[in-house]
Amino acid sequence: MAGSLIEFQTKFADEETCVVFLFEHRWPEGFICPACGGFDAWRLGSRPVWECRGCGRQTSITVGTLMQNTKLPLRVWFWAAYLMATHSNGLSALQLKGLLGLNYRTAWLLESKLRRAMVDPDRGLLTGLVEIDQTEIPFREKNPPEDVGGRAGMLTVIGAVEVVNRPSGRTPVYRPGRQLLNTKPGRVRLEVIPDNRAATLEAFIREKVAPGTVILTDDHRSYGRLNQLGYRHYPHLIGPMAAHLVLPWIHRVFSLLKRWGLGVYHGLRRKHLQVYLEEYTFRFNRRRLRKISFDKLLGLTVFHPPEPYHRITGKAARKTSDEVKKRAEDMADMGMPMIPQKTKPKRRRTGV
Ligand SMILES: [Zn+2]
Repeated sequence: MAGSLIEFQTKFADEETCVVFLFEHRWPEGFICPACGGFDAWRLGSRPVWECRGCGRQTSITVGTLMQNTKLPLRVWFWAAYLMATHSNGLSALQLKGLLGLNYRTAWLLESKLRRAMVDPDRGLLTGLVEIDQTEIPFREKNPPEDVGGRAGMLTVIGAVEVVNRPSGRTPVYRPGRQLLNTKPGRVRLEVIPDNRAATLEAFIREKVAPGTVILTDDHRSYGRLNQLGYRHYPHLIGPMAAHLVLPWIHRVFSLLKRWGLGVYHGLRRKHLQVYLEEYTFRFNRRRLRKISFDKLLGLTVFHPPEPYHRITGKAARKTSDEVKKRAEDMADMGMPMIPQKTKPKRRRTGV
């Protein structure tokens, strides 16, 4: 079976195969030196490092990519990408830890990095016929803030989904007042938004939906200017029960998203919600192309810049030794004695 575990295991049985795969994605026309642009290079023995004959710069296959400075074997990255991309629901770090025999922190960082590669920089705008709506997504936090009123624990998410004709895959002809039959969802876009104001919703729509598109929404006032912005907008009065009839696909997207968040991650964390939305979008838009999605995800990691640990966790970057020295000098200038610092035990770095 195409894309099966056994096929994958056979194809990427050793590090060298993974190196060749990355090389072909990164330099499809042959090696290009990132320092001088030269094409002529030789490989350093069996290491995945190329030395430019022009300028002498040595370039590792992973440098400048999401996998830069990794201490994990490439096979672990490939397995993680395969499992995350092909599993119908995605995997939690706990599941990945068990499957790949990693410690939890490593599994979590590996997933976090791959998840950040799930946004294709070449993503196009939605076109044709698009349903748009908002929903509230519950999130969890380690320390829930107290006294934030009724909105504690909920974030607003806006979503847009293309509607296509099921048999033909083309855009169906929309006639106001008539229900569309035999349709299916096309591509989806999702974003966390701070409020429901017109400017906020319009900014999302202009960024994700091509002008001239037919847009179906409910009768929320904030959608009032879409025609002036170049869209063909049809707002719908929605009674308490009718939303799933008028905007069936965006409602389907939202309900699957909520179930996924609860099922896989036991509730989505606030800090990482947008990243999870991207993962969901990646998987939803490739739900019929699981095998391709693995290639796509690994291909994206090659063009994704490195993600430093502090950017993923939101923790402050470590001070460089220069900054520490500068601070000591400043203190001395102000007449404050240098208090010798107790040396802290070095924090263990996992080097994902
Ligand atoms: Zn060079």
